[in-house]
Parts: sequence; C-alpha cells; structure tokens
Amino acid sequence: MAIRRLFIANRGEIAVRIVRAARALGIHTIQAHSEADTEMLAVREADEAICVGKASAADSYLNIPALVEAARKTEADAVHPGYGFLSESAAFVRAVEEAGMIFVGPSADTIDRMGDKVAAREAAEAAGVPVVPGSDGRVEGAAAAVEVATRIGYPVMVKAAAGGGGRGIRVAQDEAELRKLAPQAAQEAEAAFGDGGLYIERAILSPRHIEVQILGDGTDAVHCWERECSLQRRRQKVWEEAGAACLDEAARAELCRSAVALAKAVQYRGAGTLEYLYDQKTKEFFFIEMNTRIQVEHPVTEMITGIDLVAEMIRVAGGEKLSVTQDQIPRNGHAIEVRINAEDPLNNFMPFPGKVDGLTIPEGEGVRVDHFLSDGYQIPPFYDSLLGKVIVHAKTRDAAIDKLKQALEALKVGGVRTTVPLHLALADAPEVRAGDFHTQWLEPWLAAGNLTADSTGGTQ
Ligand code: ADP
Ligand code: ADP
Ligand code: MG
Repeated sequence: MAIRRLFIANRGEIAVRIVRAARALGIHTIQAHSEADTEMLAVREADEAICVGKASAADSYLNIPALVEAARKTEADAVHPGYGFLSESAAFVRAVEEAGMIFVGPSADTIDRMGDKVAAREAAEAAGVPVVPGSDGRVEGAAAAVEVATRIGYPVMVKAAAGGGGRGIRVAQDEAELRKLAPQAAQEAEAAFGDGGLYIERAILSPRHIEVQILGDGTDAVHCWERECSLQRRRQKVWEEAGAACLDEAARAELCRSAVALAKAVQYRGAGTLEYLYDQKTKEFFFIEMNTRIQVEHPVTEMITGIDLVAEMIRVAGGEKLSVTQDQIPRNGHAIEVRINAEDPLNNFMPFPGKVDGLTIPEGEGVRVDHFLSDGYQIPPFYDSLLGKVIVHAKTRDAAIDKLKQALEALKVGGVRTTVPLHLALADAPEVRAGDFHTQWLEPWLAAGNLTADSTGGTQ
C-alpha cells in the first residue's frame, strides 16, 4: 500500500529531513510535537502538526499511546520514527501496526532480534559474520562474568544488551575491577533501559569504528558502502566519513559482503547499519551491533552514492521493491559530516541551550547542512543537544577537509556555544589530516589540552 499520509514521531533536524523527503514523494506530512516544540522548524514545514504531550520526552516523543492516538486521529497511514526515541522499540512497531498503520522500518520481530545486542551477535555469527570474542549470550552474575573474561582475556567490555547512544558500556582491566563493576552495570542498565541484561566482549585496543549502510525490501538487500566514525567522545560519534580511508579494496569488499549476508539472513526491510570494529594491525573486523533505523550520519553515504536513504525507506515501507540494484550504487569521492551540538567544547562540553541570535548557514557546491535552526529560535533545554550537521563532499579526503574548514568558518550560530571550535581544531590536527586515529584517540587528545580558547582563536 503506497503511503499517502506520513506521521513523524520525532523532532529536531531528522524531523525536518523526513518532512522534506516525504514532500518530495508527494506525501502529506503530519508532524508530532511536544508542548516545548511548537516553534520547531518541522512543525512549520509539515502540512499539519499535532501536540502529543508535555515537554519531557517521556510524556511526548516516548509516549506510545499518545503518539499512536495522534497518528490515528490525523488519519495517518504510516509512522516514521526517525532515530533515537522510539525508533528501535518493537513495542512501538506493534502498537502502530495494531492501529492499522505502517511502521517505516523493519518488523517488530526483526527489531526484537537485532535491537537486542546479544541476539544480534548470535544472528551475526549464524550468518558467518565475525563478532568480537565474548560471552555466549548474556552473563548472569559476577562469577559467570569472571569465567568468560578469564577465557577471552582482559581488558574486557561489560555491555548492556539493551544499550545505545554510547551508554551502558564499561571497561574492566582485571578480575577485581570486573567483580566490582558487573553488579553496578546490571543495576544501571536496569534503570536506564529497563533491562539489566549484560554481556561481555574483549576490549579491542585502538580499533577503528567502521559501519556498513544497508537497505532491504524484505527480499533483496544491498549495501551502500561503509562509513568511518572513529572520532568519538564518550563512545559517541562526533565526526563521520564516507568512505573509510584505512580500508583496502579487499577488506572493503569483504566487510560490505558480510553486511549484505546478514541483512539477507534476517530478510531485512528498511535502512539499517551494521557496526564493526576494525583492527588495523591484523586487518580483522568484528561485528558489534546493528542499528535498525536511519542514523545521524546517513548523509555522508547519500553524498557519495547519490541515493536518498530516507526516501528509499519510505518507498520500501509502502511495499515497493528497492529502486536500485547493487551495481547501481556508486562510490564517488569522499564525504565528511560533523555534529553541531549546543555544547561548549571549551567548558567540558557543557550543554548550552539558548536563543539563536544571528544565524548564517553555509552554502555551496558539495556543502549540505541538515539542521532545524532559525534566527530567534529558542533551543529547548529538554532534549539531545544536536542542532544539526555540516556535511561536505569533494573528490578527495584532503579536499573534503579543506571544504569542511571553509564551511565551518562560514557557519554562525550566534547566541549559543557550539561544537564548531572542536571541529575546526580537528580539521587542523595533523593526525586527522593523515587519517591516523582510532576510537580512543580523541579523548586523550582533548585531555592533553589540544583544544583551548587560544587554539581556536577564542570562543565564537
Ligand atoms: P547514530 O549511530 O545514528 O549516531 P546514536 O547511537 O548516536 O546513533 O544515537 C542517535 C541519537 O539517538 C542520539 O541523539 C542519541 O543521543 C539518541 N539515542 C540513541 N540511543 C538511545 C537510547 N537508547 N536512549 C535514548 N537516546 C538514544
Ligand atoms: P552503542 O549501542 O552505544 O552505539 P556500540 O556497541 O555500538 O554501542 O559501541 C559504541 C562504541 O564503543 C564503539 O564505537 C567503540 O568505540 C566502543 N566499543 C564498543 N565495543 C567495544 C569493544 N569490544 N572494544 C573496544 N571498543 C568498543
Ligand atoms: Mg553503536
């Protein structure tokens, strides 16, 4: 059934992105919003908007009954969940479907399987995709954790089966630390995710984070090449690239092949990402998790392939086949995305919501800015601090970094502090220019004082 009326159950820049993709497909858009988001850009751009609850996410963007009721009331025939919030909630998928609407994403069963990080590891192994050495399934209690760790060797990562957003991951260097940490981690996971389940993986030292974008229609699946997201702070990505400069063609082909094998094995429908850690020395890669939704960094893939991933998700959800075959997915040039957050990088990334006073958005060939700002906009303090993303595309990685610097210098978000100074400093760092970094590189670099008011020419 082709989708005619799409309900957007999210906010911020991704809501704007979805509204525009739907409009381009001739679909009527209905934007959900909280009481704090009445002035949001997606509310203004959508054909209709409806308030679903109070400011707190629990009352609005995470409120399944309120969202389903609002979608039903506005006669939506489909719901797009964006990322974060309910995008990986099988309960939300079931509620949407029980109300007779389409969920734009995989089935509830696929989310149950791939959204649980332990079950996803098992599915990956069954499809012949290498996973990080670790526990067979969940570990119950400190004694069982120690047994696994002794087998695989320290340091180990203790991870929440239901974790996400860089949360629910701890490192144990030795047995004493593991014994102390395991019960705490279980309690925290229970509190944060409503599921205290833990598993253990060997901590890979200095890995690169490489992920593969896939698209599936339930029958066929294709990959849209890889992204590298090794520049991370607190296990959250801050700077992302397509492709991964550290991969040779043989490794790239094998990585992408494995991702398609797994997508086909679970008859995947929609856009999804398989995340891996890559050991540069041994050239081994290990699956870590699958994200069964559109990702924040999807635009870099769109830049190098020319594919509109959000439009493709919507088409496939409406029952169409994939519009491209594997050999129609090119890999042109190099793209970089940086996340612009309302945080002060010179003050320990303290959130800095406020009123936008003076906004200049860079433009130009190969420059794309996905955001939800406007001059005079009051950024609400209740949600994630992501304001938008600056994405650049050029023939080579070097040229992309140069273009990124120009775009960041042109970007002005007056009235608030943002992560722009961090990205400018990164663009100038010799290690970043040389591609000589890994997931554990950025934090020590920051701790060593590489980002100071002097190095950035003062605050913006
Ligand atoms: P991506 O790989 O797309 O960058 P992230 O893991 O950074 O995905 O998550 C995307 C967004 O959703 C971020 O803004 C993050 O804060 C939020 N998010 C992700 N997982 C969770 C979660 N389990 N609970 C709440 N927010 C989450
Ligand atoms: P999330 O669901 O929060 O995104 P992931 O399992 O994708 O969690 O891991 C997030 C990040 O944590 C990875 O990109 C990597 O930097 C680090 N990490 C996760 N597992 C390991 C591991 N086994 N060894 C080393 N680093 C890891
Ligand atoms: Mg992840």
